[in-house]
Amino acid sequence: MSSDFIREIVTADNASGKHGGRVATRFPPEPNGYLHIGHAKAMCLNFGVARDFSGTCNLRFDDTNPVKEDVEYVESILEDVTWLGFKWDHDAPLYASDYFEWLYERAVELIGKGLAYVDSLTADEMREYRGTLTAPGKNSPYRDRSVDENLDLFRRMRAGEFPDGAQVLRAKIDMASPNINMRDPVLYRIRHAHHHRTGDAWCIYPMYDYAHPLSDALEKITHSLCTLEYEAHRPLYDWLIAHATVPASPQQIEFARLNLTYTVMSKRKLLQLVNEKHVSGWDDPRMPTISGLRRRGFTPEAIRRFCDEIGVAKRENVIDVGLLEFCVREDLNKRAPRAMAVLRPLKIVLENYPEGQSEAMEVVNHPDDPSAGTRKVPFSREIYIERDDFLEDPPKKFFRLAPGREVRLRNAYLVTCREAVKNAAGEITELRCTYDPATRGGDAPDGRKVKATLHWVSAAHAVDAEVRLYDRLFSVENPGAGDADFLAQMNPHSLERVAGAKVEPSLAARPAGDRVQFERLGYFAVDKDSTAARPVFNRTVTLKDSYQVRG
Ligand code: ATP
Ligand code: MG
Repeated sequence: MSSDFIREIVTADNASGKHGGRVATRFPPEPNGYLHIGHAKAMCLNFGVARDFSGTCNLRFDDTNPVKEDVEYVESILEDVTWLGFKWDHDAPLYASDYFEWLYERAVELIGKGLAYVDSLTADEMREYRGTLTAPGKNSPYRDRSVDENLDLFRRMRAGEFPDGAQVLRAKIDMASPNINMRDPVLYRIRHAHHHRTGDAWCIYPMYDYAHPLSDALEKITHSLCTLEYEAHRPLYDWLIAHATVPASPQQIEFARLNLTYTVMSKRKLLQLVNEKHVSGWDDPRMPTISGLRRRGFTPEAIRRFCDEIGVAKRENVIDVGLLEFCVREDLNKRAPRAMAVLRPLKIVLENYPEGQSEAMEVVNHPDDPSAGTRKVPFSREIYIERDDFLEDPPKKFFRLAPGREVRLRNAYLVTCREAVKNAAGEITELRCTYDPATRGGDAPDGRKVKATLHWVSAAHAVDAEVRLYDRLFSVENPGAGDADFLAQMNPHSLERVAGAKVEPSLAARPAGDRVQFERLGYFAVDKDSTAARPVFNRTVTLKDSYQVRG
């Protein structure tokens, strides 16, 4: 078991019997967007701690803001959590909205204890009364309403007697607190809005800072793990646990959120990318969302490995996105079968190969995994190779095909280029080559060597395909830093569609999500836009490793 400061705290709590030796965590997404790689870190932590300490981990939707939430998000979150390989305790996922009645009763209890009051200040007045980081706030003129008046007003808030914004319920704590979160924070607000689960049953909704700690307590969570921006909210968390009647006393522990280079992770910005159609949707393969990474060809294993590599710390940092690419490359190297595809085809005609003839080359699907089996790859007189693999006038270090030169066609034959045929515009239209029939399989019986091995497909058998090559969505390391407009920092070359690719016949009619290594080109996944007649492949990651993992 890997350790970190949170597991150390849990270990110590177990030793002291703090929570009776129990470990209960939760993953609490708000269904106001799709999950992203940062959420994967939070899931690995919460589900991982539960697993390591034989505890439980709940999946709870923090669905307290109906205006921004939607069932589409709920469904995508359930799919992503499951796909990543996590299983929540309880048969069904949990929802803070299922606790609305209980949360309301706790508010009534706080009012009864003189610890909460209905405030009738306008939003502007409230802001003014709140004070600043350096100046204390001042008490609202409504702060000393009687318990009965507060109970009556709160009941009428619930009954829908007031418009949005007319009243709020606030905790009565300390308007002079150096911590702004403790200056009589709002607990409930009026929102005449339809909720995706409770419908129109409610027109007051609890604030996150109120609902979250109490929901944790109701579920008897022991360790409530959250990101650092909630550190200053912890006194309020503890205050609510201390003053409301709750069945358990969870403790909040903060950790650093994941930040990645060349990536935006804020849901607000991701939503903007989607709404303004800068990407094709939440699952655009360039998005850092779980659904985008899945469509791109990432495996759950690669994402979990990434989360292991980055670990969990207390201090904010920024992780090189190259590490994420490294993790998926390593994983796909192990599991992806190999195949051949030519992105920008150049035809070669083997003049000494009989017309109308073809043969099947028996090829292993994975060089290190015999259980992956073999397949037959057709070979014939006309072959496509990659346009880049030929140069008429090659520089010194270029070892691939050139006039008069012999190279290997992978798993097939040695071929020699005799002539480059050009059209009237001087462009090369095809190469005339010869092959050596004695080199079937790719090796010469006389032991002569060639300096290059090229991938290829048989022209007569090839299937037309579209290949989508992705690059980073942003061209700067820290998009949106300072006052920068993150949209202006998008990489204009983040998607290149290669329409005229030719792929070997085994690559036709593969199911969406299937992953494969195109020899010499990278790892690719079949896109959901694929049809049997025209497969579409997403490049997950190139073969070349630009990132060195710490040894
Ligand atoms: P917001 O609250 O602004 O809508 P959020 O990203 O915090 O956005 P939540 O749905 O509240 O979204 O997040 C669910 C859980 O995932 C929370 O516990 C949160 O702390 C955690 N989380 C969110 N973003 C990251 C991140 N980048 N790294 C690690 N954990 C994260
Ligand atoms: Mg949040």
